[in-house]
Amino acid sequence: MADNPMLKFVDLAQAYPAKRDAEARAEDFREIADRYALQAAEDQSARCSQCGVPYCSVHCPLHNHIPDWLRLTAEGRLREAYELSNATSTMPEICGRICPQDRLCEGNCVIEFSGHGAVTIGSVEKFITDTAWEKGWVEPVVAGPARGQLVGVIGAGPAGLTAAELLRVRGYEVHVYDRYDRAGGLLTYGIPGFKLEKPVVMRRIERLREGGVVFHQDFEVGRDASMDELRRRHDAIFIGTGVYKPRAIKAPGVGTRGVVDALDYLTASNRKGFGDAVPAFDDGSLNAEGKTVVVIGGGDTAMDCVRTAVRQGAASVRCLYRRDRANMPGSQREVANAEEEGVEFVWLSAPEAFDGTEGVTGVRATRMRLGSPDASGRRAPEPDPGSEFRLDADLVVKALGFDAEDLPKLFGAADLGVTRWGTLRVDHKTMMTSLDGVFAGGDIVRGASLVVWAIRDGRDVAEHMHRYLKAKAASERLAA
Ligand SMILES: Cc1cc2nc3c(=O)[nH]c(=O)nc-3n(C[C@H](O)[C@H](O)[C@H](O)COP(=O)(O)OP(=O)(O)OC[C@H]3O[C@@H](n4cnc5c(N)ncnc54)[C@H](O)[C@@H]3O)c2cc1C
Ligand code: SF4
Repeated sequence: MADNPMLKFVDLAQAYPAKRDAEARAEDFREIADRYALQAAEDQSARCSQCGVPYCSVHCPLHNHIPDWLRLTAEGRLREAYELSNATSTMPEICGRICPQDRLCEGNCVIEFSGHGAVTIGSVEKFITDTAWEKGWVEPVVAGPARGQLVGVIGAGPAGLTAAELLRVRGYEVHVYDRYDRAGGLLTYGIPGFKLEKPVVMRRIERLREGGVVFHQDFEVGRDASMDELRRRHDAIFIGTGVYKPRAIKAPGVGTRGVVDALDYLTASNRKGFGDAVPAFDDGSLNAEGKTVVVIGGGDTAMDCVRTAVRQGAASVRCLYRRDRANMPGSQREVANAEEEGVEFVWLSAPEAFDGTEGVTGVRATRMRLGSPDASGRRAPEPDPGSEFRLDADLVVKALGFDAEDLPKLFGAADLGVTRWGTLRVDHKTMMTSLDGVFAGGDIVRGASLVVWAIRDGRDVAEHMHRYLKAKAASERLAA
């Protein structure tokens, strides 16, 4: 009974009249919040049935030891839970926040199958590692004995950061090259701060920097160095550059002012969150405040755009998507969140043209119907003749997804092999590209995917690169 946080709350509430000091009151509230969070984590963890068929782990791309760290949490052994969770993931508190758990671990929890609602695995995972950071349990990155070999990582997203950490721990000198001014890739500039607070990302990067990983920001491979130059400077290279070419809409008026790309819009918002000067936000071009907003697309990026527009104080936010709710690629959880926040979904609709001369004033659209399944098995949308309609808009955000940039051309490396989608071709046994000693992973290999898969690739590629580098060192010793 003494541990019941509600009783503690009553005690504290009674003490308030005597406690006028605001700092002391804030401290009390923090303590209560912490106790509730702990209680919630323990309660959720205790719901795990330890079923013996851990579908949750199987469907987690990192195969996290979920039932084991849930058991430790339920027993109040948080530090051990953290250590176990940290053993398979370089960013558990980030995955806990932003994995689409309904499609991965939680969607495969046997308690969910029995109709009682999955254990909230993601929030427990976040709680464990956030607590570890608070309590100082997160160990620094400590480099292994120096091997005298240098690794170059192109791209400081989750794939590159994971590879950098694990190779540094193996004793390699690691240099990370990124074209942005801050590391983190889409963790930093893509995913909005209301889903992933930026200090959570920055402390991970700082930990790597303190562990001796060298970051070269504002360094664009292709502009500041060619692939050949980088290969000459390093013993091996990892490419984790993600996918950044926005899919285009071909419709009259698409170039009108006020029709913007999703990533420009989200990056501006994230930069403002960092306190940067963003002229295109300040002059209103990339700010939804007071505007009638239409977002085009049905994936998670579109959901991030609509929810960002709501937070910026848009007058109204609509989402136009050419398929229906059941056939959209975005997470149903995100759609539900957006609806709760007042976003209106206009299903089975596609843009035909954008009105406006000085700036966009509206979207002309047509209703769609779902035809027969295409090669992928999804029913292809087709226009429903005579069903045209118009939506007012003074900000239109295009969020149709991303394709790979032309890396062979950008990097000046014509013999870097790509697939027909422009993603990098790798040998799946070694994750090596067509260039000897050049490896790749994350979105640039998978196409637009998930953070947890980028981490998985970073983890796997670090092992492959380590094997390659050991063999290279051995053959150089033999030749000497
Ligand atoms: C808006 C948005 C929201 C998302 N939300 C989620 C989510 O909630 N949950 C989830 O799991 N996934 C989400 N994703 C997907 C997820 O962010 C990506 O799958 C993941 O970040 C891929 O990691 P990566 O390391 O491969 O690439 P990225 O994170 O894209 O990082 C690539 C890095 O390479 C750098 N780079 C590119 N070209 C060069 C060059 N020529 N020279 C130097 N550096 C270069 C870039 O600057 C960037 O920093 C979202 C994606 C978007 C766009
Ligand atoms: S990494 Fe993602 S899928 Fe795996 S346990 Fe954590 S939240 Fe679930």
